[in-house]
Amino acid sequence: MKRKVGRPEPGSSGGKASGDVLDSRLLKVPVESLMKKLFSRERFFADIDVGVGDKGLFERGDRGGLRLDFWLESSPDGIRVKGRMSGSIALECTRCLGEYRQEVDIPVDEFYRRPGLGTATPEGKPLPREVEVPEEDEYLIEEGMIDLNVLVNDAVLLSLPIKHLCSSDCRGICPYCGTDLNVSTCDCRVDLVDPRLEILRRLLDEGSDRLPSD
Ligand SMILES: [Zn+2]
Ligand SMILES: [Zn+2]
Repeated sequence: MKRKVGRPEPGSSGGKASGDVLDSRLLKVPVESLMKKLFSRERFFADIDVGVGDKGLFERGDRGGLRLDFWLESSPDGIRVKGRMSGSIALECTRCLGEYRQEVDIPVDEFYRRPGLGTATPEGKPLPREVEVPEEDEYLIEEGMIDLNVLVNDAVLLSLPIKHLCSSDCRGICPYCGTDLNVSTCDCRVDLVDPRLEILRRLLDEGSDRLPSD
């Protein structure tokens, strides 16, 4: 069965870069019926627009930028989620603080475990669901749903480079007057010395002291 998910409802989108973690209703997928048909599968699509903030991914407007295309496969132990996320996400450049879009194409292959498996009290009784704590790197089916928000957040963050640069030669902003040096220049730039270049300059000076002068 194919499922086509529509646009996010008004009010479901997150805030600014410092806003909430990704918690899109589009990504909370009921799987009860799929779990009843073992070894069956279902297609899942969603288009979301996400940015990366301090706490991880957050949902922006209703304009899709990232397409999720997954197969959900049921097995006695849970649901396998396999597919790709492709499109672009919004990032803030660490140098100029400008927003830019980063193209991504991320393979996904994760498993959501059915609760109640492998957990038991010392007497051998299954733990109540609310007591069950998922192991690290493990997703759980909860209340008949799989929550893809955490999966999407984790997979996107892992795929990104540590430094977010709008361009490898981004000039950044002037630390004195705040001018975006990619679009304009300022007068304080003349006196400005990159601290890394300053270290290099000192090393070169020291080196030249030891060299015979001409
Ligand atoms: Zn930049
Ligand atoms: Zn300046």
